[in-house]
Amino acid sequence: MNTLEVKHLTVKVGDKKILDDVSLVIKKGKTCVVMGPNGSGKSTLSNVLMGHPSYEVISGKIIFNGKDITKKKAEERAALGMFMTFQSPREIVGVDFYPFLFDTYKFLQTARKEKALSVFEFKKKMDKEIAALKITDDWSQRCLNQGFSGGEKKKAEMLQLAIFKPSFVIFDEIDSGLDVDALKVVGRAMKKFKKSDTSALIVTHYLRILQEIEADQVIVMSAGKIIQIGGPELAHRLEKEGFEKIIAQK
Ligand code: ADP
Ligand code: MG
Repeated sequence: MNTLEVKHLTVKVGDKKILDDVSLVIKKGKTCVVMGPNGSGKSTLSNVLMGHPSYEVISGKIIFNGKDITKKKAEERAALGMFMTFQSPREIVGVDFYPFLFDTYKFLQTARKEKALSVFEFKKKMDKEIAALKITDDWSQRCLNQGFSGGEKKKAEMLQLAIFKPSFVIFDEIDSGLDVDALKVVGRAMKKFKKSDTSALIVTHYLRILQEIEADQVIVMSAGKIIQIGGPELAHRLEKEGFEKIIAQK
């Protein structure tokens, strides 16, 4: 079964075409890695898959677990099992972090028709995940991402992943801005998430994270188009040779 089918997706912001006829398939349990130079459309693809309202889908379709979700709102996609970690998570002052986690968790459990943990059980689970992510600061009085360092913001994204338990995750450069220790911790958390029935799309510039999660498919984007699709060897080739050569061949 296919988790995600993107069919001939063309996307605009204002008058600018940012994605041009993008098609890809991610099978259930598989991992697709997206690489490409800055500005090639990787974050746009991630945002559009998740239903970001700033982007206008001009043509094409997004099918998730057999359902056409092209016109669905971000929260509807989340309820269906999608989750995305942001390349640059925003600080949202006024949204207390822990209540945000608990309320979102309850929303998702209701959507899945599953019983939610009590607040005490939830706190226990949170403490476990916080320890696993080696989060040492007390975030209980903080707003979402408020005053977090770059690495803390990425760990906050991973904490959400561990608690929300989506079936499909888009990691938009989760590994950028992390020091080596944090990279290890985040890599381990990604590995823990990646069961045989969960699927992922990983946007990355580095091979380090692919030591934790094996890529099944690697795609290369340039100027809003997919210009190459290959297996894990393509990521290694890109690291060695850079993008220029591949782009020039197209
Ligand atoms: P990548 O993640 O590969 O670095 P992006 O998807 O962020 O690339 O950006 C692709 C192109 O689309 C860039 O030229 C960027 O400026 C443009 N773009 C992305 N989002 C917007 C937006 N909301 N408004 C205007 N231009 C955008
Ligand atoms: Mg990006």
